[in-house]
Amino acid sequence: MNDNPANTTENRVLATLNADGSRRWLRPRLSVGGFLKARRVVAYALIVLFVLIPYLSIGGKPMLRLNLAEREFSFFGTTFLPSDTLLMTLLMVTLFVSIFLITALFGRVWCGWACPQTVYMEFLYRPIERLFDGAPGKKQRIKGSSGARKVMKHIVFLLCSLALAHTFLAYFVGPEVWTWMLRPPTEHPVAFLIVFVTSALMMLDFGFFREQVCLVMCPYGRFQAALLDRHSLIVTYDEKRGEPRGKKKRHQPVNAGDVSLKVVEDTRGDCIDCHMCVTTCPTGIDIREGLQMECIGCAQCIDACNTVMVKVGKPKNLICYSSQAIMTGESTRFVRPRTLIYPVVLTILLTIFLMVLGGKATAEAQILPRQGSTFYALDGDSEIANQVRMRLVNRSEETITYTITPPEATRLMIDSPEFTLEPSDSEVISFQLVVPAAAFDIQGVFNTSLIITGSDGFEKTLRFRALGPMGHASP
Ligand code: SF4
Ligand code: SF4
Repeated sequence: MNDNPANTTENRVLATLNADGSRRWLRPRLSVGGFLKARRVVAYALIVLFVLIPYLSIGGKPMLRLNLAEREFSFFGTTFLPSDTLLMTLLMVTLFVSIFLITALFGRVWCGWACPQTVYMEFLYRPIERLFDGAPGKKQRIKGSSGARKVMKHIVFLLCSLALAHTFLAYFVGPEVWTWMLRPPTEHPVAFLIVFVTSALMMLDFGFFREQVCLVMCPYGRFQAALLDRHSLIVTYDEKRGEPRGKKKRHQPVNAGDVSLKVVEDTRGDCIDCHMCVTTCPTGIDIREGLQMECIGCAQCIDACNTVMVKVGKPKNLICYSSQAIMTGESTRFVRPRTLIYPVVLTILLTIFLMVLGGKATAEAQILPRQGSTFYALDGDSEIANQVRMRLVNRSEETITYTITPPEATRLMIDSPEFTLEPSDSEVISFQLVVPAAAFDIQGVFNTSLIITGSDGFEKTLRFRALGPMGHASP
């Protein structure tokens, strides 16, 4: 709320700062209207989707998973490995160009309608807050002392944050998150620590930092000036219609010769300067001052102003989704340089992406970092065993049997050097490579390579650096 003249927008550096530099806490008033109802439907559908995505799969592969432990990224049924640098780069650039295109056409529709920060803040945490604290100007729906209500509110915030933290974690580990939840933290201390830290960050974000994430942390709003043009869809105030703003005078008897009051009343615009559009804004700005970096395009001010317009008997959409071009009397153009260039660039990127993906080898074999001890001696120190962790991915459409062949004079400690993988399947294989102690150099290093062959003709040589005790020298 902006009741203090010292906090007028002209004096303000940031919408969430008072003139003296203290935090200006925002408690946006809820404005019910067509856009809020539509955003609610979209938001709750997205919340369900955000929760379900980590458990959905396409063609037997996770729909979306960033598996850090096994260093693979699954995206719509395709698995990307660290060696897929070009594919990943193309994917990222495609994503960025898509964002540019969507922003050029529809402005910050992502921020206001679909960004998890907005969705959870406006449709989960704020409704809970209104339940316990009461909406601005309304009574609390939960009775009790303000201290008890505050504690209860934060307990509910904490439960929500824990749920969000587990959902977030599921994007990295998939359904295994349920196993972790059902076991004591001592069995998986690292995962427990991750959930603890993530929950704390969620509490900090949605309980304290809130809209400042959009205003000071997220870079997207800052690129707005470069990404939008005069024809992009934005939330805007119709200045021609609204100004000069001011409260309408009640009808007063006017002396026959005094026309001044009549003139004042007749020349006022439709904006009655009620500030409803400001008090409902989740980022605390006044849209009547024009397009601002802080505007997330949530349309709350449209709903607020439309309600006012209906009450004062004026047409709706004094604030509306429009474009700067329309507001200055030009006709808006859908086809313009950036809406032509971005789709062309996207088509080129997607074509290269599909060509690179189609031209990839039928399998992927990769040595993974070791876990646990580096090496140990066997057979009275005459042999040294090194742990090898390898990931095999069958990228073909057939079931393939792969064979691991050790280098000359070495042997594998493994049940079978053959592995059969179904199409699109992957497996992390762990075994020991046993090397004669005499093969290591004075630094305790033996550089060698393993050969992986597939029943479809696939062949790959993987370099491996075996380690042993220092001091041996090869004959
Ligand atoms: S809600 Fe509408 S009428 Fe009220 S101040 Fe905002 S623009 Fe003016
Ligand atoms: S100005 Fe309007 S659209 Fe922009 S953030 Fe505020 S309420 Fe949302």
